[in-house]
Amino acid sequence: MIIYGWRQQVKQLATATYLCGQCQNPTAHALRRAVTKFTLFFIPLFPIRSRYFTVCTFCGATNKLTKAEAEQVMATQQGAAPQPPQAQPPQSVPQIQPPAAGGQFGRQQPPAPRG
Ligand SMILES: [Zn+2]
Repeated sequence: MIIYGWRQQVKQLATATYLCGQCQNPTAHALRRAVTKFTLFFIPLFPIRSRYFTVCTFCGATNKLTKAEAEQVMATQQGAAPQPPQAQPPQSVPQIQPPAAGGQFGRQQPPAPRG
């Protein structure tokens, strides 16, 4: 007898603050991913499908997202994190001078491969 089924795992990916479409409050929204995994003998083997959604921490409204939208939310959240200053001191990069053109047109041909 084979016992199989599926199990859903919900993982919180990020938290983003924006205006909620439900309660119109600028609240934090938890970005979560729900992965449904196929299980065999209660052992999760491989994901069947995954979906993304946000949960408003104020009113609890859920909003379905596409994967691209979820990645966008994660990107904006990373952008809000403190970053090192962009201004860097000018570095003196040694310029590699090209060899002076001495009119050496008679270049040697590479040896023909023998095989
Ligand atoms: Zn809300």
